[in-house]
Amino acid sequence: MAETLIWTLGVFLLGLMVGSFLNVVIHRTPRGENIAWPGSHCPKCGENLRWYHNVPLLSWLALRGRCAFCREPISFRYPLVELLNGLLWAALYLKLAPQLQNHIDVAGILYFLLIAATFSALLALSMIDFEFFAVPDSINLFALLTALLAAVSHAWQVGDWNLALHALRDAVIAAGGLWLLAWLIGKATGKEAMGGADVIVAGTMAALLGFPGFFLALFAAAILAIVPSLLAKDTMVPFVPFLSLGTLIVFLFDHPLIDWLEQYLYG
Ligand SMILES: [Zn+2]
Repeated sequence: MAETLIWTLGVFLLGLMVGSFLNVVIHRTPRGENIAWPGSHCPKCGENLRWYHNVPLLSWLALRGRCAFCREPISFRYPLVELLNGLLWAALYLKLAPQLQNHIDVAGILYFLLIAATFSALLALSMIDFEFFAVPDSINLFALLTALLAAVSHAWQVGDWNLALHALRDAVIAAGGLWLLAWLIGKATGKEAMGGADVIVAGTMAALLGFPGFFLALFAAAILAIVPSLLAKDTMVPFVPFLSLGTLIVFLFDHPLIDWLEQYLYG
């Protein structure tokens, strides 16, 4: 128990640091800038940040949300993304910990890291979608790739290669199905119903969740999006954040959710 707590805290801190990097990805990728170079700098005055300006959460709090040089406000999104990613990694670790402790091996650790990377990429996509109502293909395809590689590591971990094949099959069916649906709706209405981005996200979702988890996540996303859609009225509502949240909920709570659904449907 104490051991799990220490590991969870460690994973939370690692998640905070990755969240700090996600902020760079979220800011630079849609603007076509290199994510590795140059180093962190204030977007307003261009001054290079020192390492102690870059400590997740703490620096933002210590500087009271302002640049250390020009005192321009720094978006609340920076500490928010760090905190969300830390909590995300801790939650995923707690979900996968029972499997990890039985098999402390390279495959198990790789499996966890690839799952965590996939959900971090979905978090970055969600934040970009909120700002631009569009997402970069590079991060979207990265998420699909890490989701498929996670299935490969899981297959390696438990010694059943069918798991990897099933993830690939489910990703192809979900992405292909959604693409076909979008094409048919487009033909029928003469309007473009969904973008290629949604098709890639669907592939990632199915690679992570399989069936029927994929449909549960779609359903959860639709429910979660209802209230914001009603409130927004004429303005657009980004859908990737809701797809991502639906996927996370089903990934974390798949067994209780499916048990409850079966109970509800079949009594
Ligand atoms: Zn500045």
